[in-house]
Amino acid sequence: MPFIKPTYNIDGDVTDIIIETLVADGVKGLIFDLDSTLIESKSARLTDEVNAWLVKARPHFKMVILSNNKNAVYLEKVKTILEMPVIGYAKKPSRRGFKQAIEMLGLTPAEVAVIGDRPLTDILGGKRSGARTVLVKILRTIKEPSWKTSIRNLERRLIGK
Ligand SMILES: [Mg+2]
Repeated sequence: MPFIKPTYNIDGDVTDIIIETLVADGVKGLIFDLDSTLIESKSARLTDEVNAWLVKARPHFKMVILSNNKNAVYLEKVKTILEMPVIGYAKKPSRRGFKQAIEMLGLTPAEVAVIGDRPLTDILGGKRSGARTVLVKILRTIKEPSWKTSIRNLERRLIGK
């Protein structure tokens, strides 16, 4: 399924993204998926590792979070912890949220990279919106049950190698 092939396929989590590569390729804004990409789902816990990566990335990019999460209290908490705007209830891969996020960044779609762990929501939606896409693995600090890993691997196989 080449239509969900990401621009960059990272063999690691968000902290393995090479900031200089995105900068060199003309990326000026980042749209982040939230759960499993930036923080452990529902915990609203920011790890030192992710925080350190964000500190390095911040001077180079405008940033916004686009999440399908519908928990308003949680989203508000995340906004404070991550110090960036959060768009919730996004219904990814719907284009509407991506359009809103790109407008909020004040950039053209080509200047924006969507970063997420799900091919069928983050990557598909990002591509359809004309943005670049970065597929990452879930945070390495997350311990998930094996059945979940299996489903995840199946989904990733859809994009081919
Ligand atoms: Mg996610």
